[in-house]
Amino acid sequence: MPIQILADEVASQIAAGEVVERPASVVKELVENALDAGAQQITIRIEGAGQRLIEVADDGRGIPFEEIPLAVARHATSKLRRADELFHIQTLGFRGEALASIASVSRFTLESCAENESAGGRVRVEGGRKASLEPAGVPGGTLVRVEDLFFNTPARLKFLKKPVTEKSAIDALVVRYALAYAGIRFQLFQDNKPVLRTSGNGDRREILAQLYDLETARRMIAVEREDGEKSIDGFISPVSLTRSNRKDITFFINGRWVQDVTLATALLRAYHTLLMVGRYPLAALFLDLPPEEVDVNVHPAKAEVRFRKPDEIFALVQRCVRRGLLEQSPVPEISSPVWSSIPLQPVVDPAWRIAHAVGGVESNPDEPAPVPPFPAAAAEVPVFPSGELPLLRLVGQVGAAYLVAEAPDGLYLIDQHAAHERVLFEKYKRQQETRIPSQPLLMTETVTLPPPAARLLEEELEAVNRLGFQVETFGPQTFLVRAVPVLFAAGEPAAMLRALVEDFEEDETPLKQEREARLIGRICKRMAVKAGKILSPEEQQALVRDLEACSSPRTCPHGRPTMIHLSVDLLERQFGRRGSR
Ligand code: ADP
Ligand code: MG
Repeated sequence: MPIQILADEVASQIAAGEVVERPASVVKELVENALDAGAQQITIRIEGAGQRLIEVADDGRGIPFEEIPLAVARHATSKLRRADELFHIQTLGFRGEALASIASVSRFTLESCAENESAGGRVRVEGGRKASLEPAGVPGGTLVRVEDLFFNTPARLKFLKKPVTEKSAIDALVVRYALAYAGIRFQLFQDNKPVLRTSGNGDRREILAQLYDLETARRMIAVEREDGEKSIDGFISPVSLTRSNRKDITFFINGRWVQDVTLATALLRAYHTLLMVGRYPLAALFLDLPPEEVDVNVHPAKAEVRFRKPDEIFALVQRCVRRGLLEQSPVPEISSPVWSSIPLQPVVDPAWRIAHAVGGVESNPDEPAPVPPFPAAAAEVPVFPSGELPLLRLVGQVGAAYLVAEAPDGLYLIDQHAAHERVLFEKYKRQQETRIPSQPLLMTETVTLPPPAARLLEEELEAVNRLGFQVETFGPQTFLVRAVPVLFAAGEPAAMLRALVEDFEEDETPLKQEREARLIGRICKRMAVKAGKILSPEEQQALVRDLEACSSPRTCPHGRPTMIHLSVDLLERQFGRRGSR
């Protein structure tokens, strides 16, 4: 075939492949256009999971009559003139290709009436073929109707997921935009049924309840942080509220929903020592950055961005989240899986217990009055402020692994290893704020490590020496240890060096500070007292006192609980003294 310039229609259809992947992407583009037009109210109607109809109506500034045909032309935009403006972009759109792309793969109608014009106009496009502009008596604002999406690109149709999946992708998208733009009224209908309606009063927590559920929304922690021209605010979940995947992590940058690994990683890092392995937080965070700090023109769908200074953004997110978590260190009260593993056999019928442990989902008609599920009740009444512990009275050690303590609010079972790890970690971190005291060894020790570990230690030597060690390279794989941190003076220098560099690679992190925290975490874990060690009453007492003094006493630095709390309330209910009759 000879070389030819593609017909505009064909070029648009090809471009549409990038912008219009599924019905939800159409909704995104149309909602963003409405937002760019300064709409105060946006109404979205979906039929047939977006395949039969997507209609977005707004009360924005509208399009002047004679510009209407241009709106659906390719590379036509009112938002950008010169390429260099890309780096100061204030609008969500700028590529001027969304409407043309959508119109090339659907039966498309646009009606609009500009603010200062008395009558509006309408243009129809079918599979990229434009009909002429006609006047239309339409109210102010713009309405776009997209019917029979992908009718002329059957291959695309085959890639669509089940209707319920496409529908929920649309719901998820609209509710997130509603959350980001809480000052704007959103309405969403699916097959004429209202799915979402927001008041536009600016209250984000109200909308959070529609994104998750009421209880989840209530428990989310509001966070906020400013750093010069950059700021961030939004909601994060307490450590007791997690998911098994990252789907509930949402980031907006300058009003744009983005999927970005740097941001997600920063968030996860902030939770790092607080969550169990394989659990993820929920978050809806909104960043405001000077436009020149972000490049949004990375992908046609504009869901990816590039940062000019990723480290700064990373640190901003991490600090904000970390602060929010520490200020409101929640109560990792006993949760149902832990509970069901505690054998309390003869007390109640197991079926009864299980039904209530999972929140009373099954109910048996012969049963006594329903008992509120205890995890929720326990989480609602934190007897002691934030993460603090009440004064504990030590009862003793069990199984050479757990300490039992009592407090006015019930019984505490403490994991001695996890608790000691937390204590060491906080002491070490506190010392790090000034200078970590080191203890010279009476006899310098030489330690030989396997080559990969030796190489890693060599790379981290500076950091290690800032942490209270005095270590020098001695031979190709050999190190000379002259001093160790006072905190670990009783430990084995060789074991400490190994603990420092064990599987370091997978932890590679851009921030120096973060890397040091990792080193600290690692060594504390190694040096903490093990399960199986019998502790003297004095040692038990000291551990409990030290734990009480910690700022996050309830989890170890790796996120496992240090303790299980059996509240008086819980004990009373389990013994049938209260609530069950
Ligand atoms: P972009 O948003 O990148 O400019 P689009 O193809 O989405 O490209 O839209 C093209 C142009 O049509 C926009 O620049 C804008 O001027 C106009 N337009 C589209 N939707 C609306 C709307 N809802 N209200 C007012 N103007 C709109
Ligand atoms: Mg647009």
